[in-house]
Amino acid sequence: MAPGQSTDMNEDRSDILKSTQTVIHKALEKLGYPEEVYELLKEPIRLLTVRIPIRMDDGSIKIFTGYRSQHNDAVGPTKGGVRFHPNVTEKEVKALSIWMSLKAGIVDLPYGGGKGGIICDPREMSFRELERLSRGYVRAISQIVGPSKDIPAPDVFTNSQIMAWMMDEYSRIDEFNNPGFITGKPLVLGGSHGRESATAKGVTICIEEAAKKKNIELIGARVVIQGFGNAGSFLAKFMHDAGAKVIAISDAYGGLHDPNGLDIDYLLDRRDSFGTVTKLFNNTISNKELLELDCDILVPAAIENQITEDNADAIQASIVVEAANGPTTLGATKILADRGILLVPDVLASAGGVTVSYFEWVQNRQGYYWTEQEVEDRLREVMIKSFQNIYTTSENRRIDMRLAAYMVGVRKMAEAARFRGWI
Ligand code: GLU
Repeated sequence: MAPGQSTDMNEDRSDILKSTQTVIHKALEKLGYPEEVYELLKEPIRLLTVRIPIRMDDGSIKIFTGYRSQHNDAVGPTKGGVRFHPNVTEKEVKALSIWMSLKAGIVDLPYGGGKGGIICDPREMSFRELERLSRGYVRAISQIVGPSKDIPAPDVFTNSQIMAWMMDEYSRIDEFNNPGFITGKPLVLGGSHGRESATAKGVTICIEEAAKKKNIELIGARVVIQGFGNAGSFLAKFMHDAGAKVIAISDAYGGLHDPNGLDIDYLLDRRDSFGTVTKLFNNTISNKELLELDCDILVPAAIENQITEDNADAIQASIVVEAANGPTTLGATKILADRGILLVPDVLASAGGVTVSYFEWVQNRQGYYWTEQEVEDRLREVMIKSFQNIYTTSENRRIDMRLAAYMVGVRKMAEAARFRGWI
């Protein structure tokens, strides 16, 4: 095959916006909606590109590019994280905002989807440079965000400190203290108990439910986790505490594997704030090898396009639960389904984060704060109900769980848009 051809195929396969649009189209078709509904939902209603000049510590000025995409606000204000990453693109942010709409529909939150991103490498930036960038971003997008318009949150390489700076900047612009502008804040600034570990908790609940369907006993089950960031690291801990054997984990630089189970507490102790831990070890395996290990449960918890048509046949797990956004391509989804592997899709599995963000926003609006147990109980109820709903839809319609999740996710949005008279 000519080199040009193979590049095109790769681009096509990794075009997450296009694959999301394909599944939305299929879901709307199955639900019997006319083509105009797809025309409305295939792209965000608003996309803002901003250029943010920041004074660096050495005195130089650097201009950063950022985005905020608002997919659809028929159901309610848009909601979703902001990522700081060198590979952020306009297309990625658009696709991620569509996924947020789907997640909100799946767990039945009164939101549409939004997403933001800044092209930068926070691993190379100082604390103060990150503060200036966070504040600059909020100034640049302030007109289109707000507690009843669009509510940001953490995502890849952003955390509660960054949320705190953003909240402070917005409160200054707005001239009053406005904690409901953003979620994922530190507890002392109106954050919610359980928010930091919420994505992993939601993934854990999906794993428990999927394991029941596959008759897999969680105690002693062999779990492989790709990624040791917010989702991956908390998940490793939860799996370890549940009696499962976490036999492999990885970060951006490689993976660690021990068929007898890794010492998760030791690794958590040594990971840095970006989830890097493997640099401390000599005998690492590659991320590619890690995905193909013999195990019961595989959790991609890192980045997009990890399970593709090239390696889907080599996956040995019985259950794949997507903690990352978009880790499995559509072609790979089909291969896994044909092979009888149960795949719990990202838009369901990773919805625990935005669910507890919603709880945080509700608490901010009420000025009344819940206990950790209350948050956990409510999250569990939401995740189990959503899992069952999508699993049953997939069984009844004989479709994979991704398509079932998209059908559930788009339905509410389409209905809200219809009642508003938009379509
Ligand atoms: N960034 C997270 C996600 O992709 C959380 C979004 C939120 O809490 O609003 O789901």
